[in-house]
Amino acid sequence: MFQATPPTRFDLRFTIAGIPVRVHPLFWLIAILLGSGSNNLLMILVWIVVVFISILIHELGHAFAFRRFGQPSHILLHFSGGLTIPESMPWGGGYATVSLTPNQHIFVSLAGPFAGFLLAGLILALGAALGGEIILSSLFGIIPFPVVLMPYGSSLTDIFITFLWVNIFWGIINLLPVYPLDGGHVSRYILIQRDPWNGLRISLWISIITGGVLAVVGIVFLNSIYMAFLFGLLAFQSYQMMQGLTGRY
Ligand SMILES: [Zn+2]
Repeated sequence: MFQATPPTRFDLRFTIAGIPVRVHPLFWLIAILLGSGSNNLLMILVWIVVVFISILIHELGHAFAFRRFGQPSHILLHFSGGLTIPESMPWGGGYATVSLTPNQHIFVSLAGPFAGFLLAGLILALGAALGGEIILSSLFGIIPFPVVLMPYGSSLTDIFITFLWVNIFWGIINLLPVYPLDGGHVSRYILIQRDPWNGLRISLWISIITGGVLAVVGIVFLNSIYMAFLFGLLAFQSYQMMQGLTGRY
């Protein structure tokens, strides 16, 4: 999501399967803030590890999908989550990225959330293999949501549920047709193919309306200032992007 940040000397750098990863120090700060609802130090630590692994797996999904289409990329984890950035390669005297077809863009966008769903499936399988009981709960009473109850005390259950919650809930949130979430890219590339003239504008309208509705749902029904702020901001950014389009068509 969002933009790249310059390197700092506190960056954590490593490589997974040939894909460079950089973790900006603000990533940890935001992870701590998001986890600070718990007053149990161990659970905050669990939360940070779960968020780190989950966002990394999500971005690796994007990165492997890029690689499938011959496009190298690197991963940045920073204050607003994760980002998979396509690498520019020397091309005809300058630098360029591989130009993907709209359907390839859609595949790359979907690969992130679905990598998370796959991870959630593996966590469920691991839980079941360790003797846990899988039951179906629901998110906000609407979205079916599997949880695994472990027999050996509650802390393992908490870890599994945090993993499932982050990957399933954020995966679904990411699929919403709001810029610049993955679902926003999917809706853009679907609509541009259907209507090259107005597709981008329509996708921005969908982003503004969905973002606005979710901001209201967040504050009124879910009592989440964070969700209201995030989607309110994204709706406003989409509105600004649409203003930028005026006159270009
Ligand atoms: Zn993504």
